[in-house]
Amino acid sequence: MPFHQPDLIRYYTFDSFEGENIKHAVFTRRGGLSPEPWASLNVGGLRGDDPDRVYQNRVRSFQEVGRDPDSVYDVWQVHSADVIWTTGSRPANVRHRKADAILTDRAEVTLFMRFGDCVPILLHDPVKKIVGVVHAGWMGTVKGIISETVRTMQTAYRCDPSNILAAIGPSIAVHHYEVGAEVVQQVEEVFADDAKEFLVRKNESTYFDLWRANQHLLENMGVNKVELSGICTACNLDDWYSHRAEKGQTGRFGVLISLR
Ligand SMILES: [Zn+2]
Repeated sequence: MPFHQPDLIRYYTFDSFEGENIKHAVFTRRGGLSPEPWASLNVGGLRGDDPDRVYQNRVRSFQEVGRDPDSVYDVWQVHSADVIWTTGSRPANVRHRKADAILTDRAEVTLFMRFGDCVPILLHDPVKKIVGVVHAGWMGTVKGIISETVRTMQTAYRCDPSNILAAIGPSIAVHHYEVGAEVVQQVEEVFADDAKEFLVRKNESTYFDLWRANQHLLENMGVNKVELSGICTACNLDDWYSHRAEKGQTGRFGVLISLR
């Protein structure tokens, strides 16, 4: 049962994380305080919504799954290949660091990120007891953010990639993700012969398959346990924000993961 809706808030979980000693949730946009065009559980602070509503939406989300809102560790997501591993939460008076992947081995920390088409990738090593979350849009994908994250799990925590569970969450599907020449060129540079597996050409247009590209990168790193939600944000605007489908006039949904 991937969707849960105990009351107003509706969220998605991955089957492969069931029974693991972690908490995780991909929150839909339902059950929050924000009006249009951010309706309603917007947790993105950079799109014009009122900061206090955004904060309250995050608090509601954490409370929904029984995590202390003050346990949050989040970052300023900048489409980089930078990975942070943290041993503590981020107090409200401490500025966000810039990064696009966060990891922790501390049960008192809740990792949190924001999405609206880019790919959320959740990670868990049940042997070393590590959790992580990654933000991979097209730039992060061609920069190899997911590969860097797995590499950091190996060096910082001695994870064996064959133990790592990965989950690719709701994000823009290939059929909705037409890309321009600049993106095509970079995908071809990075993926060489494999690029044709992720670039779908139809008539004059080219579409980029972010899900398969990230799955490919995971498998190249030795992570073979990969669950795909298969949910397209742009196709399901009742549940998700889509920067592309809503032409930038929208919010961001939250993704949370923690040990418990
Ligand atoms: Zn779609």
